[in-house]
Amino acid sequence: MLELVDSHSHIDVAEFEGDRDEVVRRARERGVTRQIVPAIQASTWPALRDLCAREAGLHAAYGLHPMYLDAHLPSHLDDLAGWLARSDCVAVGECGLDFHVEGLDPARQREIFERQVQYAREFELPLVIHARRAVDEVIATLRRLGPRAGGVVHSFPGSHEQALQLFKLGFCLGFGGPITYERARRLRDVVARMPLEFLLLETDSPDQPLCGHQGARNEPMRLVEVLEAVASIRGIDAARVAEQTTANASRIFPRIG
Ligand SMILES: [Zn+2]
Repeated sequence: MLELVDSHSHIDVAEFEGDRDEVVRRARERGVTRQIVPAIQASTWPALRDLCAREAGLHAAYGLHPMYLDAHLPSHLDDLAGWLARSDCVAVGECGLDFHVEGLDPARQREIFERQVQYAREFELPLVIHARRAVDEVIATLRRLGPRAGGVVHSFPGSHEQALQLFKLGFCLGFGGPITYERARRLRDVVARMPLEFLLLETDSPDQPLCGHQGARNEPMRLVEVLEAVASIRGIDAARVAEQTTANASRIFPRIG
């Protein structure tokens, strides 16, 4: 059977409150045996830690997401260092920049993101990055601050040229639901042209539903459909894509085993 890693799943959020165990089981049955679960804000870190300790195959990243800017306090950035020092922590994130959503102060976003990039360097951890209308600035920040352990730009929204720049910086690109839509030409072109060693599969559950499941809660078992989309775009066997993207996840996030 295929062994897959969902490199971006928010299985800890309230949308899964009623049936989380069942959702994890369903995913596992389809071969999605591991999930990387990036945190959103400080208040969720303890429950995320407990969930990942309880469920084999769930791996926590701790961080402060740019879309939840209003929830972040200066003390959270200080506290984050302690959470990143934990042995169960596989990455720093979710962090990044979002210049699409209105009302998120860019200066504060930058301050919080840059501190997390510095932490990644200090703790030699990979980064899980959210970059919306901000890919060029994310690239510039990574060049300037030089994190050492690479990471992923999740749900990559950029161009082939930007993808190549991230590749040179040691970053992988995460692809999920959006590539299953035929109209996503530029995105599918990036998926087709980049080396397979550079791609990670993700669902971003419960967000970013796949083509055919619009309006529904997304969940990690649908990673198999993302896999099939990548295989079909590249015109290669799904087993080959599964093998390589799972190896990529272990390379970028060594602590998932
Ligand atoms: Zn996310």
